[in-house]
Amino acid sequence: MNNTTKGVVIRHAIDWALAHGLNYRVPLTFSCSTQAIPEPIKYAATHAPFALTPAPFSKTCFQKARELQPIYNELFHSISKDKEFIDTAVKSLGNSDNFITNLYDIYQKVQKEGTAQNITLGIHRSDYMIHNKNNEQTLQQVEFNTIASSFSSLSYLTSELHRYLAKRQIYPESCNIDEKNIPFNDSFLSLANGIAKAHELYGVKNAIVLMIVQPMERNAFDQRWIEYNLFEKHGIKLIRKSLAEIEKEATLEGPDKKLMIDGQEISVAYFRAGYTPNDYPSDIEWQARLKIERSKAVKCPNIGYHLSGTKKIQQMLAIPGNLERFIKDQEKVNFIRSSFTGLYAFDQSEASKEALTRLTKNPDDFVMKPQREGGGNNIYGKDIPPFLAKLSDKEKEGYILMDLIRPEVQDSTIVRDGNAEDFKVISELGIYGIYLSNSEDKPVINEQGGYLLRTKSNKSNEGGVASGYGCLNSPYLQ
Ligand code: ADP
Ligand code: MG
Ligand code: MG
Repeated sequence: MNNTTKGVVIRHAIDWALAHGLNYRVPLTFSCSTQAIPEPIKYAATHAPFALTPAPFSKTCFQKARELQPIYNELFHSISKDKEFIDTAVKSLGNSDNFITNLYDIYQKVQKEGTAQNITLGIHRSDYMIHNKNNEQTLQQVEFNTIASSFSSLSYLTSELHRYLAKRQIYPESCNIDEKNIPFNDSFLSLANGIAKAHELYGVKNAIVLMIVQPMERNAFDQRWIEYNLFEKHGIKLIRKSLAEIEKEATLEGPDKKLMIDGQEISVAYFRAGYTPNDYPSDIEWQARLKIERSKAVKCPNIGYHLSGTKKIQQMLAIPGNLERFIKDQEKVNFIRSSFTGLYAFDQSEASKEALTRLTKNPDDFVMKPQREGGGNNIYGKDIPPFLAKLSDKEKEGYILMDLIRPEVQDSTIVRDGNAEDFKVISELGIYGIYLSNSEDKPVINEQGGYLLRTKSNKSNEGGVASGYGCLNSPYLQ
């Protein structure tokens, strides 16, 4: 694309994004707790960062990721119900992590008291990169998210943006982009459909859905689209509350522990907060989490699901025999296993010793992860050995080690805050998963729910979309 043509495409793309709600709130760079936010800034929005053109992506790997999803959904449902496995995972972290210990405390309290709701709703996102070695491409899982998986709305809008630019031939002919190779993205409606079906199973027509949100959420429009789709397609109302607000306003009513806010019964409590220690600045937020967990509302996710999504569980699943604990069909076991890369604990196992020897020689082949979500927590390559040297054996137990996946490096133009810049990039595919089971533990929904493609500069370790060099993209299947 020459610069004049590129300028035209960028202008079209930005206005399409702004007009369709592919947006973020503008960042608030001053302390909001001490200063009133000026009204125009509080309500200002900008387009979310996006890639100007879709990224070439292997069709075979894309299809494989979609086919894996229902099996992963079943697997994580089974894990979430396996107290012994969860206990082992938490114990092997050796009390090294307060955040996990607090979550586990809630888990144990509710297990002891007995759960007030047997319907479960999982809204997941399984993330992958394509490992590229000697021109052979293999799909490998980065992680499995069981809480607050974001971007289902904005990623749909990004694929529609790319399809529009292709269909209207705003991309020059030299780009050779045919909209048919950008797969339709189910993610716009799949989450709302899952929540609506869970609401229906709950069985109280006038009940409403609660979305638990962070007080200063920039990614609010991604969440608002779920709210609008829930109302427009299903006639269900959703309210947004922070954990602190819930502690103040919510009560548990009656022997069946209905979750009530302002006189309204909550059918589904959908978490878009609560996945990081930052969401619990005081004991008030922990009390709110416990209150929700004890209630009759359908939790998405419940605390068992939340704990199942830790990196520790992912690493444990890579230990021979553990997948078989949950999946009886050997073909499915092999299929799931084929998406794993090397995962190791810092323990005395042979696998771990062998990995540590390799780490000493080639640290750049590894990434080290704590039990955290939301990006920006990992340690990469050459930073690992000095980081490890500062940890006690006990502290090391809180982390996992993972082989670095190396996707093909591509060229991309990223549009952020109205500015376009060229980068060498790599991409990560996410597949949403929706799993709903009824009170008899029979699956009612088990589906893949569309995709997310995120692209980041190959110079940056993590691809945060809100900050840094990450952006939204869509796959160009080939
Ligand atoms: P989080 O739960 O914080 O999102 P992730 O495991 O997804 O944690 O790691 C954050 C980012 O780090 C990923 O989006 C990816 O860009 C990079 N990353 C994580 N694991 C790997 C890996 N094994 N190989 C290459 N990059 C990785
Ligand atoms: Mg995660
Ligand atoms: Mg991630």
